[in-house]
Amino acid sequence: MTLPDSLAAGDRPGAAARAVLAIHGGAGTLRRAAMSPEAEARYREALRVILEDGGRRLEAGENALDVVVEAVRQLEECELFNAGKGAVYTADERHELDASVMDGRDRRAGAVAGVTRLRNPVLAAREVMAHSGHVLMIGRAAEHFAIGQGVEMVSPEWFGTPQRLEQLRHAKASALGQVLDHDGQDAVGRGPIDEKTKFGTVGAVALDLHGHLAAATSTGGMTNKRPGRVGDSPIPGAGCYADDRSVAVSCTGTGEAFIRAVAAHEVAALVRIGGLSLDEACKRVLFEELPKVGGDGGLIAVDRHGAVHLGFNTEGMYRGSVRPGQAPYVGIYGGE
Ligand code: ASP
Repeated sequence: MTLPDSLAAGDRPGAAARAVLAIHGGAGTLRRAAMSPEAEARYREALRVILEDGGRRLEAGENALDVVVEAVRQLEECELFNAGKGAVYTADERHELDASVMDGRDRRAGAVAGVTRLRNPVLAAREVMAHSGHVLMIGRAAEHFAIGQGVEMVSPEWFGTPQRLEQLRHAKASALGQVLDHDGQDAVGRGPIDEKTKFGTVGAVALDLHGHLAAATSTGGMTNKRPGRVGDSPIPGAGCYADDRSVAVSCTGTGEAFIRAVAAHEVAALVRIGGLSLDEACKRVLFEELPKVGGDGGLIAVDRHGAVHLGFNTEGMYRGSVRPGQAPYVGIYGGE
C-alpha cells in the first residue's frame, strides 16, 4: 500500500494510528531516463527494509529517539546514501562527517561535526547528548569522547567508495565548486536522482506510541567542500529539530541556506506559534523561506498528532514513511 506524500493522522483511533516513522536519503534532480530499473529498485528496497524495521520497533513500543537513531544508523551503513559509508569527499579527498539527534521530550540535543573516524556519527551525536553535558562537539575531541563512550572507530578510508571519488574528480574537473552530495556525479550516476544535484544527507523523524517526537540527521556534507566546512545537518534548529509541543524535522539540501533560514525550527515555529498546519508550515519553508536565501532541498516532518510531510523543492527525494502494523510508503519522484 502506498501513502501520499502528505497524509493526515491515521484513520484508526489510538496511538498506533498516530505513531509514525519517516526517513529520507537526500533530494535532487531526477534522472529517470538514465536510471536502470535495477538501480531504482535498490534504492527503494533499501528504504523499505529500514522502514519495516522501524515500523516494528514503533509497534513494540520503542521510544522515538531509539527508533530514529537506529534508522539513521542503518542509512549510514548503506553506501547508496551520503552518510557514514558512502560519504562524499572533501576538496582534499577526505571525509568529514556531521550528525545530530534531538529528543522532543525535553529538547535535549547532541551533535558532532567534522569527524573522520567514527563509523556511525549518529551514535556519537547521541552520546554527546546523553553524556557530555554539551550539545555540539567537533573534530578530534568529539572522536575521542565518542570512542571513550564505546562508539566504533574505523580508519578514515573506510567511508570512501570509487563512485564518490569519481564524483569529486568530476566536480573538480567541471569546476562545479562545492556541490551537494550527488552534484558532479553525472558520469557516475548510479541512482534515479541525478548525482549532480542530489543532496544525500539522511534523516529520520518519528512520533512514538507514547506521543513523543524525535529527529536525527547525518551527512558527509557536500562534495568538494572546503575542509572544515560545516553545513546544517549537525545544527539543531537548522537541519534537525524535535519538540513534543509541535514537530520533529530533518532536512537535506544546501546547508548554508538551511542554516540561514533556520529551516527545521522555522517549521516548528510556524506550527507552534503561527498556528499553521504541518503541511502549510513545511510548504511555506520549502517554497517561500528557503528560496529567498537560495535554498534547494527537502525535509521530512511529523507533528504531535501524527501528520507527516515529506516535501522538497527539488525534483525528487528518496523518502518513505511507515505506521505500526502497516506497509511502508516509499517514494523517489514528485507526485508518487
Ligand atoms: N545539508 C547537507 C550539508 O549542507 C548536504 C545534504 O543535504 O546533502 O552538509
